[in-house]
This record gives sequence, C-alpha cells and structure tokens, in this order.
Amino acid sequence: MTDHRFAERMQQIHRELGIPEDYARSTPLNLQPEPPELALCEPDYYGREQRLAPQALAAWQAMRDRAGADGVTLFLISAFRSADYQAQLIRRKIEAGRTIAEILCANTAPGYSEHHTGRAIDIGTVDCPALEEVFETTPAFVWLQNHAAEFGFRLSYPRGNSCGISYEPWHWCFQADV
Ligand SMILES: [Zn+2]
Repeated sequence: MTDHRFAERMQQIHRELGIPEDYARSTPLNLQPEPPELALCEPDYYGREQRLAPQALAAWQAMRDRAGADGVTLFLISAFRSADYQAQLIRRKIEAGRTIAEILCANTAPGYSEHHTGRAIDIGTVDCPALEEVFETTPAFVWLQNHAAEFGFRLSYPRGNSCGISYEPWHWCFQADV
C-alpha cells in the first residue's frame, strides 16, 4: 500500500473512531506506514507469534546474538502491530465507556505508532518487568546504549523527547537507511 493510500485509510478509521480532525495536524508524531513485507520472528517472551520487516528482523537477530555473546540477554516483547490492531484496541476502550480524549492520552491514534512499520521492537531482559522504566537500570539497556547503533537501532523516545511520548527505554527502532 502506498503512503498516500495508507494516509487515506487512516483518515477513514479516525472518522469512524471519532478522533478529532485536527489530530494529524496537531500531533508531533508522523504517520508510520505499514511495510510491504513482513517476516516471521522467533516467538516473543509470551510465546506469541511476532513479525518484523525483513531487514529489521535480520538486524534484530544479529544484535540479539551479539548481545548474547557478550553475556547480555535480549528478548522480544512486541514487534509489528498493525494500524487495524491499534484501531481495535481503541474501539474496545470506547465500548468500555472511555472517551476518545481519555484514550488518546494513553494510546497513539491508528497510523501513528512506530510499531506499524515493522521496524520497532520492545525489548525485554531477564530479571526485569516488561515495559517498565526500570529497564534503564539493566545491563541490557547499558549494552543497547553502547551497541544498538552498530545494528541500525535507535531509542525512539528518550527522556524529554519532543514527541510528547513518555520515556520508553525498551522501545528501539531500526532505521532502514543506516
Ligand atoms: Zn514500543
């Protein structure tokens, strides 16, 4: 799907969900089109099937293996998530009685999550609860800070980021042009 068609499809989904029309203009986030192709990863920490864009998958596997060789465990918590999945998540919250304004404080509008690209991964490690800030105190995080760039991964949402997203030390994104 072209970026233009993706944008149109997102507009339609936003209308259906009652997301304000100025969301696209007012969010500091960019549209994150889904990739043309996805490849199957190893199962995640919870045993669920995960997919990534092929190049991101190869980079992730190389990075994970090198970390392992350095005695640092990295595992997948979450990888590709579709815009439709994001829409479903929001729909369920609306059905549970939440307002769209409340929901958008905690959830990115469909189309704007880096996980749609198949290049973003949430990383976990041993002896650390999943998706919590305390991840920054682990040897895994120290290792990522020192080595992730060598594999094309960068921290998307550092402390005080300009996207208005809370600090996520576990969320790393592969940049295809690196
Ligand atoms: Zn993430």
